[in-house]
Amino acid sequence: MRRNVSLAEISDGKLYSEHDMVKADCRGCEGCSDCCRGMGESIILDPYDAFRLSVGLGRPFADFLEKEVELHVVDGVILPNLRMCGPDEACAFLNAQGRCSVHPCRPGICRIFPLGRYYEGDGYRYFLQTGECRAVRSKVKVSKWIDTPNGQKMRAFVIRWHNLLRDTEAELARCGDDRQREINLVLLRCFYLTPYDETVDFCVQYDEREAQYKNYLLQK
Ligand code: SF4
Ligand code: SF4
Repeated sequence: MRRNVSLAEISDGKLYSEHDMVKADCRGCEGCSDCCRGMGESIILDPYDAFRLSVGLGRPFADFLEKEVELHVVDGVILPNLRMCGPDEACAFLNAQGRCSVHPCRPGICRIFPLGRYYEGDGYRYFLQTGECRAVRSKVKVSKWIDTPNGQKMRAFVIRWHNLLRDTEAELARCGDDRQREINLVLLRCFYLTPYDETVDFCVQYDEREAQYKNYLLQK
């Protein structure tokens, strides 16, 4: 999701790589669950989140659409995001103790918070969102904080997914309503609703799905 704000308004003005130290470690959150409430539609899920959640919880991703996840249009593309529920608009995965019930398979946006991704050229770096977490935080290495194994492989996936969404947006802007609906349906089916195989590496499955989807976009 693109945000039309300047980096200076929402961050400490610096950009960080995985090797840098950043003041992001909220040390277990100590009873706070602020960033799991009232987040609207902003916790958008990518295909790796869909894989991680469905394999981690042993449920097909389509199941989550009944309660924990909803669909929303983001820059013209229909994408899933975590659903906020009840009077305090809590994430559907937040438990009664105010802790994340899916911590080991929580989505990428939750993993990196209070960091965000800043895309530039063919890659991205991280920025620290200074207005989002009021905890007293200590410094931590970015790679440790984001807690994602296979760092280089997953970085490559994030860039490819970002580029694919950008190409999809461009295609949607060129076509009429019927084709827009079809593209959105194909994208949802290809990357989210078709069940992932837990015995096969995510990146291998993503390669296949991306090839299929690009082939579909080119055929029309
Ligand atoms: S707002 Fe900060 S301290 Fe509170 S739950 Fe989120 S990351 Fe933890
Ligand atoms: S998935 Fe977990 S960490 Fe992410 S918003 Fe929900 S409860 Fe919070």
